Amino acid sequence: SRYFTITSRPEGLPSPDVFSLEEMELPALGDGELHVRNLWLSVDPYMRNRMDGVKTYIEPFDLNAPLEGAALGEVVESRDERFKPGDKVRHMAGWRDEAHVSADSVERLPDLDVPLQTYLGVLGMPGMTAWTGLNTIAGLGSDDTVLVSAASGAVGSLAVQLAHQKGCRVVGTAGSDEKCDWLKSLGVSPVNHHQSAEALTKAIKAAAPQGIDVYFENVGGPMLDAGLASMNDYGRIAVCGMISRYNSASAEGPANIAMVLTKRMRMQGFIVLEHWADYQKFIEEAGPLVAAGKVEYQESVFDGLEATPEAFLSLFESGTYAGKRLVRL
Ligand code: NDP
Repeated sequence: SRYFTITSRPEGLPSPDVFSLEEMELPALGDGELHVRNLWLSVDPYMRNRMDGVKTYIEPFDLNAPLEGAALGEVVESRDERFKPGDKVRHMAGWRDEAHVSADSVERLPDLDVPLQTYLGVLGMPGMTAWTGLNTIAGLGSDDTVLVSAASGAVGSLAVQLAHQKGCRVVGTAGSDEKCDWLKSLGVSPVNHHQSAEALTKAIKAAAPQGIDVYFENVGGPMLDAGLASMNDYGRIAVCGMISRYNSASAEGPANIAMVLTKRMRMQGFIVLEHWADYQKFIEEAGPLVAAGKVEYQESVFDGLEATPEAFLSLFESGTYAGKRLVRL
């Protein structure tokens, strides 16, 4: 098995030479285990936080051990009666080409007429995150005006479409004109986020003069200050991510945090894994929309295991790569 590891704890944006491609021989397959050959690997922003040697809601990655992440694989050998060769499963032994995994730890995939890799994107963890943040955390109603940051990304692009289909007015921020054009085609009022917090606030105000009721926050930094300044009284902020801070331990702000008080807002962070019991409900709602082409999604596909670090690092570039980052093996 070939796998990626990190050989040191990165500071700031990881340099590509933090990653090392290693090889090991897999031991004999144990009882209750599956030998899976990976077909698609997911890279996700949260992995950056696991590279720091600090436990948060999840353990840090061990140095020199295989990295982990969501992956889709095919069972090539099974020592569990529930699975047979050829079955497709989702599991956490990503960043490698093949692995032995416990059958208890894998997920079977829903039976929908959709491309396999959507189970890592719009119908996987990112999609479930959009749905959870809007519904469970923000309690979205059809008369809400919604702001989504990183709105054209894997999470954001489903969030804006679910909100729009509910009848909400939606403002979305993104880092390039192309991304803004795509958002516009989805019925979203786009704002390019490459401007100061003050200018962003003005642009959001121009797009939604009635103010923002629900803010789905993915970015942090000046974006969060602009979001706070754009909120109506009693607004709800679902804090999903802070990607602009993941590579800078000493980032300042937000300057406008006192507005949570003055506007009597509710601001709540969430981790989608804690809501995984609702995944079936999410699939029942979003699965048919994706299968029928009523939800659009974008992908940036990187080919070959060697490209995994590059795919991961692309998440921290603004404006360049679109949608869900995937590695195809
Ligand atoms: P995306 O597909 O949105 O990709 C990341 C995007 O973030 C980039 O394409 C870029 O978009 C934007 N970005 C990167 N760096 C910056 C920066 N410094 N300032 C502003 N924008 C930046 O990734 P995901 O959809 O997978 O994740 C989106 C967010 O959701 C992340 O914050 C992630 O951590 C969070 N998340 C949280 C979960 C939870 O359980 N709470 C679960 C899954 C994701 P652009 O070109 O538009 O600038």
